[in-house]
Amino acid sequence: MPATVLDGNRIAAAIKAEVAEQVKNLSLRGLKPGLAAVLAGHNPASEIYVRNKVKTCEALGLFSEKITPPENITTEEMLALIAGLNLRDDIDGILVQLPLPRQVDSKRVLLAVDPAKDVDGFHPLNVGYLSTGRPGLVPCTPCGVIEILRRSRIPIEGQEAVVVGRSDIVGKPVAMLLTNANATVTICHSRTRDLPGVCRRGDILIAAIGKTGMITPEFVKPGATVIDVGINRITGRAEFDKYFAGDAKREADFAAKGSTLVGDVHPKVAEVAGALTPVPGGVGPLTIAMLMVNTVKAAAMRRGARHGLPRQDTEELKAL
Ligand code: NDP
Repeated sequence: MPATVLDGNRIAAAIKAEVAEQVKNLSLRGLKPGLAAVLAGHNPASEIYVRNKVKTCEALGLFSEKITPPENITTEEMLALIAGLNLRDDIDGILVQLPLPRQVDSKRVLLAVDPAKDVDGFHPLNVGYLSTGRPGLVPCTPCGVIEILRRSRIPIEGQEAVVVGRSDIVGKPVAMLLTNANATVTICHSRTRDLPGVCRRGDILIAAIGKTGMITPEFVKPGATVIDVGINRITGRAEFDKYFAGDAKREADFAAKGSTLVGDVHPKVAEVAGALTPVPGGVGPLTIAMLMVNTVKAAAMRRGARHGLPRQDTEELKAL
């Protein structure tokens, strides 16, 4: 039986509807969560991502502001810009779209974001909160992975989870969230020996690698849940045929756009896995939905008490 497809679009829509409801309730208390998206220079992919984030804020009733410094901005100017956003009370979340122009020191800039407004969850303080099980802001894509599992009623506790990829943005935080949810977690990377064998241990297998179709059926335990975080673009006909020959829907997509998006998981894995996220339409849509969740959470944690919300767990964030 082919794997159950875990529909990320449907799950993201449900989360966004919940956020819209929360935003409505907060507005009755005079609190409107606000997101600042900083987009430096002209990276076409980044422009699309930021446009979608701002549009989603508008659709859900959040305040949003797009800040577009020029391509030649310096690190010092970026730091001053972030310092200004840190001081603004109407801004609850600061999103610095990566990559930044080459001359800008990204690490310094990300470190300058107030951890209480760090809706990407990249600040070392939030990383520390996650790894010590304290409340804080958690990276969006890893949170999205957990939401897919939870809302699809896939058990996590006590399960063997294998994560391929150890980046700070996806692999490590997703492994930490799975650990906190009581899975037994193995993290793999480019130096892992017998990767297929290790992956086959996973009741849950998370692929966050960035290599087209690398996870083939021999990596997958029969019946496992496979979450494909990878986003890769196929533009060549030969490569397209290798993965999607005979797939009419893909064929139409490829003909219309001259390319198609594909994950790290080979299409044939559907014949072995129990459940599987598609690409596109799997983890991707969750990333923006969780950014909205984080912005509302950041607003509630930082200024909820002033608007009559029950006290949030803000002690650590306030201590900064
Ligand atoms: P990185 O390049 O930062 O990390 C990739 C990881 O994969 C590294 O840990 C690397 O190991 C590991 N890896 C690479 N090749 C192999 C291999 N042959 N065998 C085993 N492990 C390997 O990528 P990110 O974590 O940022 O992103 C991963 C993927 O997820 C990308 O396709 C990205 O586009 C996508 N992504 C999707 C998002 C979404 O919204 N759906 C959001 C963010 C990312 P090592 O550490 O040893 O080099």
